[in-house]
Amino acid sequence: MIKARCLTLFAGSALLRSTKLPRTSKSSLNPRELDYPLTELPGVGPALSGEAGKLGLASLGDLLFYFPCRHEDFTTQKQIGELKWGEEATVRCKVEKVSLQRTRRRNLRLVKAMVGDETGYMEAVWYNQDYLVDQLTAGDELLLRGVYEGGGKTIYKVRSHEILGKQEAGLHTIGFVPVYPTTEKISVRRLRGWLAQVRPLAARLADPLPPSLRAELMLPWRSDAIDSMHFPRTLADFKLAERRLIFEELYLMQVGLLSQRRHFGKVRRGVALGPVAGLTRDFIHGLPFRLTPDQKLVCSEISADMQCPQPMQRLLQGDVGSGKTVVAVYAMLRAVEDGRQAALMAPTEVLAEQHFLNLERMLSGMGLRLALLSGRLKTAERKALLADIAAGVIDIAVGTHALIQKDVDFKRLAVVVVDEQHRFGVEQREQLADKATRGGVTPHVLHMTATPIPRTLALTLYGDLDISTIKAMPAGRRPVRTWLVPEFKRSGAYGFIRDQLDAGRQCYVVCPLIEESEAIEARAAESEAERLAAGEFARYRVAVLHGQMPGPDKQETMRRFAAGEIQVLVATTVIEVGVDVPNATVMMIEEADRFGLAQLHQLRGRVGRGEHESCCLLFGDPKTEPAERRLAAMTTTTDGFRLADIDLEIRGEGQLFGTRQSGLPDLKLARLTRDLDVLKLARRKAAELVAADPELRRPENVLLREEIERVFGDTVEWLRRV
Ligand code: ADP
Ligand code: MG
Repeated sequence: MIKARCLTLFAGSALLRSTKLPRTSKSSLNPRELDYPLTELPGVGPALSGEAGKLGLASLGDLLFYFPCRHEDFTTQKQIGELKWGEEATVRCKVEKVSLQRTRRRNLRLVKAMVGDETGYMEAVWYNQDYLVDQLTAGDELLLRGVYEGGGKTIYKVRSHEILGKQEAGLHTIGFVPVYPTTEKISVRRLRGWLAQVRPLAARLADPLPPSLRAELMLPWRSDAIDSMHFPRTLADFKLAERRLIFEELYLMQVGLLSQRRHFGKVRRGVALGPVAGLTRDFIHGLPFRLTPDQKLVCSEISADMQCPQPMQRLLQGDVGSGKTVVAVYAMLRAVEDGRQAALMAPTEVLAEQHFLNLERMLSGMGLRLALLSGRLKTAERKALLADIAAGVIDIAVGTHALIQKDVDFKRLAVVVVDEQHRFGVEQREQLADKATRGGVTPHVLHMTATPIPRTLALTLYGDLDISTIKAMPAGRRPVRTWLVPEFKRSGAYGFIRDQLDAGRQCYVVCPLIEESEAIEARAAESEAERLAAGEFARYRVAVLHGQMPGPDKQETMRRFAAGEIQVLVATTVIEVGVDVPNATVMMIEEADRFGLAQLHQLRGRVGRGEHESCCLLFGDPKTEPAERRLAAMTTTTDGFRLADIDLEIRGEGQLFGTRQSGLPDLKLARLTRDLDVLKLARRKAAELVAADPELRRPENVLLREEIERVFGDTVEWLRRV
């Protein structure tokens, strides 16, 4: 299928809504014409323009940004006398005589035209296009694109033709001919015709790139680039045009993100923490292992950030099991040893509870006061806890986003750690920083993600963050072996698991993902747990864990599993993140084809955390090609970054910028995997610009500023406010 690459930059503009603006004379440059509806084009009525809506085309301006998916290279032009047998070329010629010929083969009729130029004659042939007999007349000048060949006698098979002297001649048969995604009613010829008509309007597009930058990078004007995207004279022209527009797209995004970041850096005041002190040292020394070099590096990066008065905004990336938790604890202890408070925010209650239990364990004996602000606290308990937080009695508070609600008032909050931050978008990131601001002081924020994001994507999505990465796993980890188990080997798999349990290990069984309802999912998990407890695992201690269980039950189940009292934990995806039980060595996933690749990787990350060899058993019958590719990827690699790249390939980038990453405009032309060099350039140039003119006030940057406001919409409200 052809992939549409249209930019509907104009679709949302206010002017569009006031249709039928008074028509100005053709000679004056009226940028508003870009906003005119398609019905302004001759021959386009409401029906056709409605159909065009399916392609995302509402205004004349939209057409300019409706880029072709490819071009036909029809550049070779020959005279009849020069044509070689089997050669495809464009020929300009004159019609001598036209005839319709029925053949002995049913359903095959030929239109034949004797055509000539000053070098000779040939017979041009069209198949099954009878109507041409009436359209072509002797004396017509034609442009023909076809192949010169023949059976018994030499003929020229026509692929495409146009009659010169008609309005749009030269659009379909010669040069680089654009091919657009079409609908049933809107043919590619029609689209070319429309484009030929709106093409002059490209000159009315303002160029948002500062002139000096355009000159420095030797990029074409925007109007020229858009023209060349449709009707390039050469391949080089097209490439340059495409590069210019990709650069523009990425540059706008980077300038938006960086100036936003700079803006917040200016208006937000943080606290400069003192140098590393006893508490963090004790914690590090008390660990049963030594930090890996990556962990050490990240800790020092964080520490350096926190000693600056500008609030930290850092993203910590590290694959599942790479050891982010110690870094998070380190960051929080930096606040506590400075006499301040820290908070750890998790995306779900289960994860918050798990973190809380972990912290209690890791920090026991250090005399710290920890609290879990659970959504399930009774009113009185919650009130007492909030009072303690406000009085500064609590050193570290753990919870979901409930932590940053209005009624939660920290006395001296200095550090916030956000786990699994990919579940929050850009907007939420900003909200978090704003809401966490107390008494005019914004805390340092460490965002953590185990969903490995290819570096390219990270730069784009998190252009507003600094990035730290834990690349290497702690020493001694053995990769988890992964199998896609066919249904007929199911009982064998249970036997294998029983062997593991008998050897003292533990096992997870993950039930199918049911997106429609958490309640149904929970019931499915419960019945599967019952089935296994009565059947395959009758001799073992089986328990269930799902999101619908009351908080204390979940905590108790997790505690018992961690303590080894439960051997088989049947769960929904609530165990996707954060659960850390090194003795668990088998992850069995039912209907694995329903899960996303990132999710499967997260689930698999629950095992292989200790000294024992672990494995992941995937059940399920992939019914689609993407599902098949996902499962195949799981069995071939355990590298999260590699999987993230594969995921990107399977899903395409578009979806990664969907609702989840709200607040960022979609990328239409740029492909991050391909355009990494342009992205880097855009980022560097954006940084230079924002350093020189942070609020984009200089006259040469005004158009850029307007364009960013338009593309980013409400998310850059501050840009207007400044
Ligand atoms: P994640 O990055 O997925 O949050 P965790 O922080 O939960 O990973 O760490 C996974 C496991 O690795 C934990 O059991 C933790 O104690 C252990 N771990 C962390 N750092 C090290 C290290 N430097 N050496 C050995 N084990 C470590
Ligand atoms: Mg973790």
